[in-house]
Amino acid sequence: MAHTSDFRSAAHEAADLLADYLDGLPARAVWTPMPADAREGLLGLPLPEQGVELAELLGRVAAQVLPHPMGNGHPRFFGWVNAAPAPAGVLGAFAAAAMNPSAAGGDHADVHLERSVVRWLADLVGFPHPAGGGLLTSGASMATIVALAAARNRAAARLGVDVREEGLAALPPLVGYVSSETHSCVRKAAELLGLGSRQLKTVATDASGHLDPAALRKQIAADLAEGRTPFLVAASAGTVNTGAVDDLDALADVCAEFGLWLHIDGAYGAFGRLDPVSAHRFAGLERADSLALDPHKWLGVPVDCGCVLVRDAEQLRGTFSLVPPYLRDDAAGGLGWFSEYGIEQTRPFRSLKVWATIAAAGRTGIVRDVSRCCALARTLGELVAAADDLELLAPVETSIVAFRYRPAGLDEEALHRVNALLPVAVQERGKAFVTGTVLSGQEAMRACLLNATTTEEDLRILLDEVREAGAALAKLA
Ligand SMILES: *Cc1c(COP(=O)(O)O)cnc(C)c1O
Repeated sequence: MAHTSDFRSAAHEAADLLADYLDGLPARAVWTPMPADAREGLLGLPLPEQGVELAELLGRVAAQVLPHPMGNGHPRFFGWVNAAPAPAGVLGAFAAAAMNPSAAGGDHADVHLERSVVRWLADLVGFPHPAGGGLLTSGASMATIVALAAARNRAAARLGVDVREEGLAALPPLVGYVSSETHSCVRKAAELLGLGSRQLKTVATDASGHLDPAALRKQIAADLAEGRTPFLVAASAGTVNTGAVDDLDALADVCAEFGLWLHIDGAYGAFGRLDPVSAHRFAGLERADSLALDPHKWLGVPVDCGCVLVRDAEQLRGTFSLVPPYLRDDAAGGLGWFSEYGIEQTRPFRSLKVWATIAAAGRTGIVRDVSRCCALARTLGELVAAADDLELLAPVETSIVAFRYRPAGLDEEALHRVNALLPVAVQERGKAFVTGTVLSGQEAMRACLLNATTTEEDLRILLDEVREAGAALAKLA
């Protein structure tokens, strides 16, 4: 182990190195493909026989790692759903690693801090928070597995089965409902939990990609009539493709009517509720049984950090705890260990970076940043809609803008080919980064705005880049 005086000087040096890195990002290419030798150098690294000084390690990070970022720290990164790290969160991650506890449970700062930040997250998105009603996870994929496990157990209990003891063999197939826009993590969770992805039924959406409550009600009624066992509806509060928010109130009504578990995927979008212009779209979110969130997306908490919230804490504890009720007593008022509420045993100190990120901005700062991203997205949507050579493919509901390049003179087939190649062509030019998707069979781009330092000028540069790269591709089409 390195001596701590070594650590002190290296840490000071690291602070300068990383501050320079972060300061320098906007002036660099958003992303560049890695040169073959740099890539090979990392892929083929030999296991070192002898150790080196910390200062030497920093030199290697500076030479081999920092020059090749993903791009998501840059104000013109609009790809997928990946945020720039909040500087306060970076410091939180650093300090958390220095303490390095296991946040499984016990009486130390990390455990109690996690209780507070989970409550803060619930408060920010307007979800009820009973004590113990949630925990931090690696991301929304893990949050979804945790939530769906609780949903499965509640459904089993209602059928008189303890699924933890009896397993799925003691149950009829449990049917869940999703839409074509539901994130794949819901299917992954259903598969992992043994529910079977065929038991997830895809319900129709309206033209803007919202799960249709009337179609849902009809499908549930039909399934019940045929003797099936519906148990779950997975709604979206911000889809990845277009940022659409399902009609959560109407879906909550359907779930209440049939006694189904309502899970909401708010991984990307739930914090959009903080934008006063968008807030009304989230009405009903507070009625869900569970909600998956990703502080490592819109809040900019350094990866990894997801969060699962449930309205009934006992549903989680009853699903995961292996501690008999007579042993449940501790410093956190009988809430027990986080490891009784989820899958992880040794757990990282995620709450410090969440605490730092939220505390540095305050609710006011978060509202300001989220609102700015939504306003930028609306502006981008307007710029696209006003252009003859671009086409807006969905209404802008949160901070994602789905569009395509559509110059005069190209038929649908050529438009398809050009738009399929466009995102990577734009990325390789280095000035803006946008990713692609397929919407109702059409090749499309979607720009996701998560960075409050992005400017309107950056939006114009993105569209110029799309046009220039698109024109080059159109010549070949
Ligand atoms: C990112 C995302 C997920 C998956 O979350 P991870 O944190 O990547 O595991 C699920 N749903 C939506 C809408 C997302 O944006």
